[in-house]
Amino acid sequence: MRYGVTAVWALAVLAAASCANTSGSGGTRDASGDTCTTDCDVECGDECDLDVVSPDAVDDSGSTDVALPDIVDDDVPDTSPADTNTDPPDVPYDCEAEGTCPPVGGAEILQEGTANAYRLRGLIVTPEGPINGEVLVVGDSIACVGDCEGHAQAAGSWLIDTHAAILPGLIDTHNHILFDIFDNDDWVPTLPESCASDADCTAGSTYCKSNACACVEGRCRYRNHDQWPKEDEYALMLDYKQCLEGASQGRPDWCPTKYDGDGDVKCEMQKWGELKGLIAGTTSIVGLPGTASKCVGSHARSIDVSQNGLGVDDIQTSALFPPSKSSGDGACKNLESGDTKAYLIHAGEGVDETARSEFDTLASFTTTDGCLLRKGTAITHGTAFGPAEFGAMAAAGVQLTWSPASNVALYGSTTDIPAALAAGINISLAPDWSMGGSQNLLDELRFAHAWDQNAFGDVLTARDLFDMVTANAAQVLALEDRIGAIKVGLAADLLVIDLEPGGDPYDSLLLSTPTNVRLVMVGGAPLFGDKHLRAIAPESPACDFIDTCNSPKFLCAAQPVASDKLDQSFPDIEAALATAFDELDAIPVVDPLLCGTCKTDEECFKFTAKPVVDPGQCATPCTGGQLCIQAAKSGANQFKCESEYTCSPRKSQKYFAPIAPLVRCD
Ligand SMILES: [Zn+2]
Repeated sequence: MRYGVTAVWALAVLAAASCANTSGSGGTRDASGDTCTTDCDVECGDECDLDVVSPDAVDDSGSTDVALPDIVDDDVPDTSPADTNTDPPDVPYDCEAEGTCPPVGGAEILQEGTANAYRLRGLIVTPEGPINGEVLVVGDSIACVGDCEGHAQAAGSWLIDTHAAILPGLIDTHNHILFDIFDNDDWVPTLPESCASDADCTAGSTYCKSNACACVEGRCRYRNHDQWPKEDEYALMLDYKQCLEGASQGRPDWCPTKYDGDGDVKCEMQKWGELKGLIAGTTSIVGLPGTASKCVGSHARSIDVSQNGLGVDDIQTSALFPPSKSSGDGACKNLESGDTKAYLIHAGEGVDETARSEFDTLASFTTTDGCLLRKGTAITHGTAFGPAEFGAMAAAGVQLTWSPASNVALYGSTTDIPAALAAGINISLAPDWSMGGSQNLLDELRFAHAWDQNAFGDVLTARDLFDMVTANAAQVLALEDRIGAIKVGLAADLLVIDLEPGGDPYDSLLLSTPTNVRLVMVGGAPLFGDKHLRAIAPESPACDFIDTCNSPKFLCAAQPVASDKLDQSFPDIEAALATAFDELDAIPVVDPLLCGTCKTDEECFKFTAKPVVDPGQCATPCTGGQLCIQAAKSGANQFKCESEYTCSPRKSQKYFAPIAPLVRCD
């Protein structure tokens, strides 16, 4: 059963600061194969990779070297002691008059603020452990932790007694954010339900060739990341994604022309992923969106693009394995120079020797052997690695991101975390994506906890798991001096959750869902929380009320900028995606005779992926049944003849609407 998140009505709230845009760098690979789709630059060399691509690896965004102005500070009022002397006296907040009294046990607004500052009272999870006290947020940063009542910048602040635990916002170091419009209703590995041997899986699946699948505890699983992308069902979902985001290559022939231009919904897709994380307390996400769009702001921070609200992006990513030699050489150079401080690369995803040997390749595919095995590099997955690989990683200072739910869904097993811990590797935890993986980082924490207890023998404490999504994750991103802890001077990215009986905040985190997330702040901006807390956010632009599994919340999506879709409310985003899903689902199959002969697993469609132009634009006359189309934005061969009808993989038997909800309540 699935529940959507329903916008109820709009209210006024602050949004995160707007961000200037600088283009990211690096190429984006098209999942169908082999072409660089965007400009490559110094970071991936000046040629494009021709690598075989796993669709888990459709993006390869690079870091940027361009520092942005710290625009968040522009919105911060001057709260120096001299100015605060002129503030009006503190006014007790009257929740009955305001109609915003908290539910029993919920956070209370004790004092209305007059400045862009907040004192959150509760059990604060500091790096040294939990303490009772206050966190003072001024502008985008944490100004005080502990006893803040008399702090110079506390005058005029809102005072909120959370009656709950105050944690640093969670950090997701690995997600494919443009896939977050999908979930298990859209695709899960299509393998035989049960098996007694590996041979059963091969015999029972179109996609398992030469014992490519393994029988794990009676269920068939793949062995490495090159296998499942061959599924037709997966390919169709990928077609939808490529179409909707307006990918310059890899869009299916039936994709409407508007998605080749201003009509794409990539902005909304990325925002959906950010909001999906935000409501689960995630304030930073490595989402691999490729070249960043201007419309991407900070709901949760898309931390690996320049619009992350931090004013700097020193993160470079590679979802391919192996990247091209020039890309690897570029990453080595950037790590050496410090232009890149965190290089996140998929490697070792799977359970067989093919996956394991990626470690050997990682150490040898660059011009200088081993130049990527160094501090700053973090391997995503490492599922097939053992003590030898982990020992080499630890010796070189290489870190690890662990995605157990996705791994187990695909391969029946996950990374040997006890071995990685024994080697002394810093480990972060992240969901990977929703299809077989977790809906959000809270779900992933629960999955990791259960797997640890059942398969690892309980080697991870609740505190260890908390560290994996906060401090350890910040270290993987080389951002520990900006995010990932409640410390004075760090960004005010905060999460407030219910304290469960027993009062242990780490145990409480493992029990949390969006329902008992009471408040999330990103850069000091309250963006999500219990409905009655919406009063703490500024009046404009409007925020929305939503329902998360029968728990009423406020959610602020719009930003105070009218351009680049930055002013979209949550209903705007949801409606744009819903309309797009409906449109693609409704694309008709036409008479197969119009296509001539299609294969048995294909259907006939009208070609709509590119604009039709005047026939005179094509160098040679198009024949009957052909259209003259604009195949490329520029260049000598931008116009060409194309068949009016085209065979495409079967899509009429699978519909993708409705969009995967921000939270599932089942
Ligand atoms: Zn991945």
